[in-house]
Amino acid sequence: MQRIVIIGGGFSGINVANKIAMKGKRKDISIILIEPREHNVYEPHYLFWSFNKDPLKKFTVPLRKVLKKGVQHIPAVATKIDKKNKSIDLSNGETISYDYLVLATGARMAEEQVDSYDKDNIHHFYLTKATEELQVALKNFNGGTIVISPSTVPYKCPPAPIEFAFLVDRYLRKRKIRDKSTIKFLYPLLRPYPEARVAEKVKELYDKRGIEFVEFFNYESIDKENNKVISLEGDEIEYDLLILIPPHEGHKVIIEAGLGDREGFVPTDRFTLKVKDHDKMYAIGDGTNLPVSKSGAVSHFSAPTVAKNILLEIEGKEPTAKYNGFTICFVVTSPRRSMLLFFSYKYPPKKFGLHNLFIYGFFKKAFKIAYFKALLKGYL
Ligand SMILES: Cc1cc2nc3c(=O)[nH]c(=O)nc-3n(C[C@H](O)[C@H](O)[C@H](O)COP(=O)(O)OP(=O)(O)OC[C@H]3O[C@@H](n4cnc5c(N)ncnc54)[C@H](O)[C@@H]3O)c2cc1C
Repeated sequence: MQRIVIIGGGFSGINVANKIAMKGKRKDISIILIEPREHNVYEPHYLFWSFNKDPLKKFTVPLRKVLKKGVQHIPAVATKIDKKNKSIDLSNGETISYDYLVLATGARMAEEQVDSYDKDNIHHFYLTKATEELQVALKNFNGGTIVISPSTVPYKCPPAPIEFAFLVDRYLRKRKIRDKSTIKFLYPLLRPYPEARVAEKVKELYDKRGIEFVEFFNYESIDKENNKVISLEGDEIEYDLLILIPPHEGHKVIIEAGLGDREGFVPTDRFTLKVKDHDKMYAIGDGTNLPVSKSGAVSHFSAPTVAKNILLEIEGKEPTAKYNGFTICFVVTSPRRSMLLFFSYKYPPKKFGLHNLFIYGFFKKAFKIAYFKALLKGYL
């Protein structure tokens, strides 16, 4: 019996567990998923949830409803990884051993590094509680300057703060307070998106809607008393409401096991998804240092490679499956419209996906259904 242990039951961990369960049906394996949470949240919905009050259950699902037969869920935190003895200590006092280990712990939102969160006018939409607080702040906003900025790179879903600017523009227009408001999007590069053609399109739409783009702004700190956000270069921007994407880093269990890089992300072979310099250990999702976006789409397209390589190794074969970096990304430009981009390690976003179309907006919304009905369950 070969025991495969997966730490982290977010989209990546659930997806890999289910894919192994489906493809390894006839093999003598056991699959254990360590995840303290009993539910999975569809994070992309936080973007829209900032502006409405859908009940949380509309975009969460209990793990027991999506895990395939053959996947055992242990509701605990992995507190220590002992690489030498191939064992993991858990917060419930148990220690479990593994033959194969998958690290799927995601990125930690290091909110404590921004000690001004929780105050009236500094918020984000990357966690449930934070988004609920933002909903209230937006409702109470009656005009002034809204500033949107990442605090560090990389962060999950690179277009999310760009999209937020589009949606907040629409929200303020609907409330008839757009003419009393300024929206500023700050970004560390000279353009509002890493890829030139996408940046050009975003800039064109920002100009049309009167959203100001502030280039080359590397967030450093907040002057809370004077409501100013300050860059590494010493620039200061005043705000009435600041939306600051929280700093991202790897989880403690990864860092303490010596499995993380400087930010705590796992050095991972970009093709095989094996953890560098470690046998029978794989990593997937936001917790890796892969040169692709931290996104659910990357988890989806890379999960088959992890599952296949583990099953090949179990059969005594070489882990030859390779992830080519392919991913897709919607860039929401209004509640109903999106651009659709395709990337891989080899090519930048494909041109045909750049249109700002209603149909892509429909797909973006429909994705939530596909996520719960098919993607989480390991189909497709
Ligand atoms: C606002 C927003 C919008 C987004 N929009 C999009 C989008 O449009 N398209 C897209 O593709 N992606 C989008 N994403 C990104 C996407 O949601 C994530 O990339 C994806 O969920 C990552 O999954 P993951 O499993 O790697 O990490 P996570 O979902 O973070 O899961 C990691 C899991 O590991 C668990 N864990 C951590 N440490 C331990 C431990 N020590 N022991 C046990 N368990 C542990 C955590 O509890 C967590 O459940 C968005 C994200 C946000 C926040």
